Amino acid sequence: MYRRNITHILMPMALALALVVGYHLFLKTPAATRLASTASTVGNTIEPVAPPPPPAASPREVHPAQIRVLDHPAIPGSRHETLLIAIRDEIEKRNLPLAESKLTALPQSAVSDATTKPFVAVLWNNLGIEQETLHGTQLSVKAFKKAAALDGSNPVILMNLAHAYWEQRDPALNRDLLEQLIRLAPEEPFPHLAMAELLHEQNQSSEALTHLAHAADRVPRDPALRSYLAAVTAKVQHMESVESRMTARTSEHFVVKFDGAEDHGTWTTVLEILEDAYREIGQKFGHFPSKPIVVVLHTRDSFQGATGSPAWADGLFDPTLGRIQLPTQGATTDTKWLTSVLRHEYVHALLHDRLGTSSGSLPTWLNEGLAMQLAGDPWPDLDEALHGEVTIIPLTYLEGPWGALPATAADLAYLEANSATHYLIERWGMAQVDGLLKAFKARTPAGTAIQNTLFVSYEQFHHQWLESFQQKRS
Ligand SMILES: [Zn+2]
Repeated sequence: MYRRNITHILMPMALALALVVGYHLFLKTPAATRLASTASTVGNTIEPVAPPPPPAASPREVHPAQIRVLDHPAIPGSRHETLLIAIRDEIEKRNLPLAESKLTALPQSAVSDATTKPFVAVLWNNLGIEQETLHGTQLSVKAFKKAAALDGSNPVILMNLAHAYWEQRDPALNRDLLEQLIRLAPEEPFPHLAMAELLHEQNQSSEALTHLAHAADRVPRDPALRSYLAAVTAKVQHMESVESRMTARTSEHFVVKFDGAEDHGTWTTVLEILEDAYREIGQKFGHFPSKPIVVVLHTRDSFQGATGSPAWADGLFDPTLGRIQLPTQGATTDTKWLTSVLRHEYVHALLHDRLGTSSGSLPTWLNEGLAMQLAGDPWPDLDEALHGEVTIIPLTYLEGPWGALPATAADLAYLEANSATHYLIERWGMAQVDGLLKAFKARTPAGTAIQNTLFVSYEQFHHQWLESFQQKRS
């Protein structure tokens, strides 16, 4: 059994923070209260972290929609006026499917007419805002696309579209779109932040740093946001200084970086393990990553220096930097260990890719449980590992970060996560697991997600799972 690799579970915190920051940068609303308690977690440290913001406080629910809704310009004497006003009223009454079907059915003359066209664009935009409030960006992105197609010079519409793409990790959020947005809305920090992220993903870290600086310049008088950006900047700078002297090898789906002295054998082995994981786990899971995944092999010293990991950590997936990091000590001699760690972290990377900016809403027990189950981690069954009287930690306690758990509780947490996820997959199948992931992507709280997907309450699920392994013990 390899030592638990616990630090990556602190990372969803940084991710939730990235989301909150991105969102607030974009909306220009005060974020100081929420940020104040979480800004210290950015640096990938292992200090105890504050729990993630409860679902009720997620950005979507506090969404001040009026900021992004466009006022309707007057429609001067159009013969479509009645029709357009009726649609506007349906949106305001939140009869969204009706409004959408009426918008879709508008006569071509209303859509192409130069006087009504901007008004129709505004209607699509405002429909998107309402859809996003109720159902998230998965739905709103379509409306914003329609709006932008009608009026691509409107900075608010383009900003809404870019933000929806960003949340959905849609490759349509490319350099061209962001450059256009920077031209149209030069004072906004969000396009620079998104550009920095894009460039970072494309391995252009020095250009990314320039845009991080531009974003910071555009966040006036907000010390928490500024310190957040400073922390991310420092992290990227540090990463660049460590990785600039590394060699990179690429396969079809991975970029593997390592200290120059590493031998051919190691990276060939690593790439083979990763490509196997890509195929096998992708098939089981029904998802393949949208972009190549970066894997950084550190010497033991540079691993701890670069990641701030404790000595016992075997590896981690860092969602802020979007890479799997692991020490190579032992990698050449212990292929079994290497396979376990790489596959485990690969599942975390895959879940992060699947959930995008919502990964923070995935309960840690399920994140870890899926990593263990899909990677085939060699953990014993809970019933084999536990003897005598055992106090089970309720799963609801294991939804947030595990960093503050004492070591014995952490061992139990992994065993429980493995067991509960095994039970979930065995009893409901991967299709329902997929349903759960969809719900978490929409930031549904765990209780609701389980009820709506498995048709049992969280309590019932918990009870049935405990019964299932107690039966095995007796
Ligand atoms: Zn893990």
